[in-house]
Amino acid sequence: HAKNCGKNNAKMYSSSLTMQIMSHVQLEVGLRKALQNQELYLLYQPQIDVSSATIVSVEALVRWRHPERGIISPTEFIPLAEETGLIVPIGEWVLRTACQQARQWQISDDRPLRIAVNLSAKQFKDENLSQIVLSALQDSGMPAELLELELTEGTLMDDARATMQTLERLRAIGVYLAIDDFGTGYSSMSYLKRFNVSALKIDRSFITGLPQDSENAAITRAIIAMAHGLKLNVVAEGVETNEQLRMLEQCGCDMVQGYYLGHPSPPENIALMLAQRPVLDGSDDN
Ligand code: C2E
Ligand code: MG
Ligand code: MG
Ligand code: MG
Repeated sequence: HAKNCGKNNAKMYSSSLTMQIMSHVQLEVGLRKALQNQELYLLYQPQIDVSSATIVSVEALVRWRHPERGIISPTEFIPLAEETGLIVPIGEWVLRTACQQARQWQISDDRPLRIAVNLSAKQFKDENLSQIVLSALQDSGMPAELLELELTEGTLMDDARATMQTLERLRAIGVYLAIDDFGTGYSSMSYLKRFNVSALKIDRSFITGLPQDSENAAITRAIIAMAHGLKLNVVAEGVETNEQLRMLEQCGCDMVQGYYLGHPSPPENIALMLAQRPVLDGSDDN
């Protein structure tokens, strides 16, 4: 009995594994064509300055409209793009498209607005990264200081020497550098000092459960205090409620991002949000 059962399980397992591999291969074939078939597009999510209640930065988040499977999340295809190296051309397309979009917003509004682009580890290791960044800035006419590049701790810790060189080059260009998902990796304090970035984005997992979760509250306060001690800006990711916003404001968090402030949205929605000011309401003095 048990033997039969095992056999059946093995068979079921292998057929579902075949399915997984097949869909993985199909996905990879599809991803190779996604760029030329114009199946990738960007949504944008605002980052709001707490004290002025205005949008100071907008993060580009890629989506894939698959002809059969519908919309695929970057959490599913970015790892595949990394494995296959496709992240390099895809990442370049994201950077160029985001810079051009930001330039459009910039033209129709006189306030400076940063555009934030996520970089994955493989892009960061690409020798041509600084050339690609320069070229995207030149072609779009975006000033370097309005381009924000988001890197994770994992990317920064990969190979310390090469990392420092790449960071030097990017800093020489004058872009704004932020550490994404901060607190989930393993940055040491001394590295943080040497990396000399402009901002930390506190990972959403610490913001969840605020203000009740006393451990997350302690971690959030500590990250904000440390960042300010190092003269870095702090952004809270994944802000979903007014209570979280109020607490972050009390803790002196500089910027907030999350569904409560705005979902990732198409460019025309961002243009509407930019036209409306300030974007936060219900603050004590208004
Ligand atoms: P991330 O850079 O940390 O982006 C934040 C993610 O959290 C986004 O998911 C966003 O939609 C989601 N989010 C924002 N506010 C909230 C909230 O209040 N609650 C919750 N539950 N989620 C919120 P998304 O768009 O699915 O992207 C996931 C990740 O994929 C990104 O995490 C980033 O690491 C990666 N990614 C997205 N676009 C790109 C890209 O163009 N290039 C690269 N290399 N990676 C990208
Ligand atoms: Mg990000
Ligand atoms: Mg993040
Ligand atoms: Mg993330």
